[in-house]
Amino acid sequence: MSEFLLKPRIRFGEDALGILEQQSARSALLVTDKAMIEFGLADRVTRIWRQRGIAFQIWDDVVADPDIATVVRGMKLMDASYPDLVVALGGGSVIDAAKAVIFALAQMRSATPRGRPCFIAIPTTSGTGSEVTAFSVVKAGVEKLVLVDPSLLPDIAVLDPSLTLSVPPAITADTGMDVLCHALEAYVSRTASDFTDALAEKAVQLVFRYLPACWRSGNNQQAREKMHNASCMAGIAFTNASLGITHSLAHALGGIFRIPHGRANALLMAEVVGWNAGEARDTEAARKYARLAQLLGLPADSTHQGVASLLTAIRTLKDEMAMPGGIRDVGINDADFEQRLPELVNQALRDGCTPGNPRTPDAETLTHLYRQAWTGSQDGPAAQGY
Ligand code: NAD
Repeated sequence: MSEFLLKPRIRFGEDALGILEQQSARSALLVTDKAMIEFGLADRVTRIWRQRGIAFQIWDDVVADPDIATVVRGMKLMDASYPDLVVALGGGSVIDAAKAVIFALAQMRSATPRGRPCFIAIPTTSGTGSEVTAFSVVKAGVEKLVLVDPSLLPDIAVLDPSLTLSVPPAITADTGMDVLCHALEAYVSRTASDFTDALAEKAVQLVFRYLPACWRSGNNQQAREKMHNASCMAGIAFTNASLGITHSLAHALGGIFRIPHGRANALLMAEVVGWNAGEARDTEAARKYARLAQLLGLPADSTHQGVASLLTAIRTLKDEMAMPGGIRDVGINDADFEQRLPELVNQALRDGCTPGNPRTPDAETLTHLYRQAWTGSQDGPAAQGY
């Protein structure tokens, strides 16, 4: 038996933020970060609360890739202010921090009558899909832990593309590649279904069509809206279908070397697609990659050609946005990388995303994939099938 979970309620499009005008609350908490204050985005939420006479507090010191200390700070603040409405406004880091805080407090309060607050997630990047996923990623030391529980799902997700216009080009590229990675991994995962495939296919098409335009011109409203929708669709796909080893490898790489999540995925994605497709291109994953190439209008007369076309398209997309080709291009020292390789591989092997991958890797395979991604070589496993 399989299941496809549909939550939260999604409000999308221009002025989607207006839903806050209908939301009553005794006291509210805005979870956000300094950039949201600086860009005036937090003010768009608090202005509504002021007009409606809703008392509120702001927690604005969530850091990128939130760690346990951040979650504990948020728990203390939320426990003291006891809001009945929590709004997370920011990228995946902010939304994940809010999720983890609400989850942890709910566990602590299970013996008391205090209820869970209404939780609204408002993404300001088009990347993680965290507004619709049952996941929260929290760092413990250098390791990224993935919490998975349906109660992490927000009650309402607000997709207002105007909130993403200020995202700078490099973050647009990183987060956009994260969307592509979510869709590709959900599409070939062991638990993919017709439902998740439909969302993943649409998300992939939207990314290839609109991500370069967002990168070139941040003010392109239509492109921003399409990427925001793609991010959410890919999120629904992967929260139901799970992810794969691009994410496992990226979690370890990003955690140890402090690389933004989407960029880490982009560095590893083509290598993993090549390996999943198999040397003879005769796996189910290979056939699905070729089907995606067809949908994108790329040459795909055979599975072999379709996989090759998709790999070229991924690399071209990265190049178009001037993204680093290999791990060696993001400022990591060769000796450090080699020294930490066993730790990277161990973390990736036990990552929660590994079981969803269509092929089961061993330590040797993951070591090889990291080494190939070091150069991002065209002659690596992605091109050869490894
Ligand atoms: P992020 O939230 O870390 O934000 C990156 C940077 O962009 C920050 O400096 C932030 O202030 C800035 N920013 C955000 N919105 C902006 C805007 N509108 N204008 C200008 N600057 C803006 O990046 P992210 O990629 O959205 O989230 C990454 C985190 O999410 C990682 O920790 C990753 O592991 C996690 N993640 C979670 C899930 C999930 O399902 N919960 C899925 C994938 C990734």
